Amino acid sequence: CGIVGYVGSGEASEFLIDGLRRLEYRGYDSAGIAVYENGKIQIEKKKGGLANLEAVLKEHPLHGHIGIGHTRWATHGKPSDVNAHPHGDCHNHFVIVHNGIIENYMTLKKELIEKGHVFKSETDTEVVAHLAEELDDGNFLSTVRKVLAKIEGSYSLVFMDDSDPDTIICTKKDNPLIIGLGKGENFIASDIPAVINRTRQIYIMNDYELAVVKKDSITFYDHDDKEITKEIHEVTWSA
Ligand code: GLU
Repeated sequence: CGIVGYVGSGEASEFLIDGLRRLEYRGYDSAGIAVYENGKIQIEKKKGGLANLEAVLKEHPLHGHIGIGHTRWATHGKPSDVNAHPHGDCHNHFVIVHNGIIENYMTLKKELIEKGHVFKSETDTEVVAHLAEELDDGNFLSTVRKVLAKIEGSYSLVFMDDSDPDTIICTKKDNPLIIGLGKGENFIASDIPAVINRTRQIYIMNDYELAVVKKDSITFYDHDDKEITKEIHEVTWSA
């Protein structure tokens, strides 16, 4: 339901929690964040309101400069801690958040289980992370493209890869996604209010466009994998 992402030099979790709070008006049943910390992507997620997640983070704070977050409105699998996003593969090499529905997840899940993947949740989403692990060719961008070629449905999707820890990759189809341009930091969100107090320069993603987001650069590609230039929108209203 709500998606956020951060890459920069600041504390990722601060933006992630603040951004998710600004998206709360959309409603949700659980919340979680993932942050790259000490060479690994660490996930904390919890059923219920953001206060529940914050209580967990008080006990186990996540410190790092790159991360993603999600508030979930369950479509496949009941609201629970394990079904909350972010979702990882067997080793959390790839960790993702997703809005929407992966229509062909049953078929993909069956194939991946036959290949030895062990699933933790009942969601349609988790299949995307395992698919990335299965198709991993050592290049984050090309792995994501291989995943996108396999999935059907609607999505805003944000990926992290522990072997490319300076980069977030995101894309969308039939679900909203925006990127906020900062100075030495960039922000990803499912809606503009999440980023409005950090930047007013926004890129609005179109279906099938893909963005490779680092702290000092954002590179956009179209459906044919061709690099494109996108127009910046100045947001003039206040949240
Ligand atoms: N279909 C996914 C799930 O049930 C994502 C739901 C959402 O958009 O929040 O976990």
